[in-house]
Amino acid sequence: MPIYEYRCQACDHDFERLVFSAAAERELKCPECQSGNIEKQFSSFCGRTQTEGGGTRSLSSGCSGCHASSCAGCR
Ligand SMILES: [Zn+2]
Repeated sequence: MPIYEYRCQACDHDFERLVFSAAAERELKCPECQSGNIEKQFSSFCGRTQTEGGGTRSLSSGCSGCHASSCAGCR
């Protein structure tokens, strides 16, 4: 189940949503201001991966795996 992060272009609110289909995605609205003017954040979600075992993982190696399922575990 893909979890995507979105940013509202109207109020800069960030939120995450499970997206079941492209049609559902078009229905998404900002939970704060109800604006439909939102932008999907593709890579920043995983790019924020912090430390695991004391080191900072790189974007490529750190998140190649979680793209297949969910990014929830990589934060
Ligand atoms: Zn908003």
